[in-house]
Amino acid sequence: MWAYQPAQRAIVLTSAGHEPASHTIRTMTYTLDHLINSATLPCTQCKGTMLTRPIVIDETKTIPARQCPHCDGIGQFNTVDVPALLKLVKGRKPGTLRSKRPDDSRAYYVWRMARFHGGADVTMPMTASLMVSGDPYVPMLDVVADKVAEAVYGTCRAGSSRWAAAMGYELAPEPGLPATAYPCGPVVIDSNKPYSEQLELV
Ligand SMILES: [Zn+2]
Repeated sequence: MWAYQPAQRAIVLTSAGHEPASHTIRTMTYTLDHLINSATLPCTQCKGTMLTRPIVIDETKTIPARQCPHCDGIGQFNTVDVPALLKLVKGRKPGTLRSKRPDDSRAYYVWRMARFHGGADVTMPMTASLMVSGDPYVPMLDVVADKVAEAVYGTCRAGSSRWAAAMGYELAPEPGLPATAYPCGPVVIDSNKPYSEQLELV
């Protein structure tokens, strides 16, 4: 499961899961270097087994393992093709993001996180996080999203600034960020929020 960790998200992925047999908790950690140099990595949800864990109800009833829904039963993910990803998120005008949500899961995640970090939409990106669950390369996608936010909006700190205030951290507000970065500002500043993200506004 992915958790928002501003200090670490660019460097390590920590994914806690259960071993199918022993029920012990295992943690998978990859460095950014490892992510960059691995052509494929196992799904963080099924750990490459391609299956979900059987669920034991009682001595007589067990829900059998089924195909892992996070990797579609493939067990692993290919590395990130950054140029291809950038093509899927950029807008028609230079230096802009496309207005419509990309269909590809990773492209959608980068598009949405860039909007979050850049201040176009600082509601919590729950939908996008679900779309990449199991993908071990999410920290790489975060690095790309930060760069895209800086290029398009001039900052990658608007979302974290807004949420630091919302969570009660008393940090002196950094000047010069978009209006969405401050406690009383709007949460979305354009009309590009997809209908599929409406729950994030509640
Ligand atoms: Zn899987």
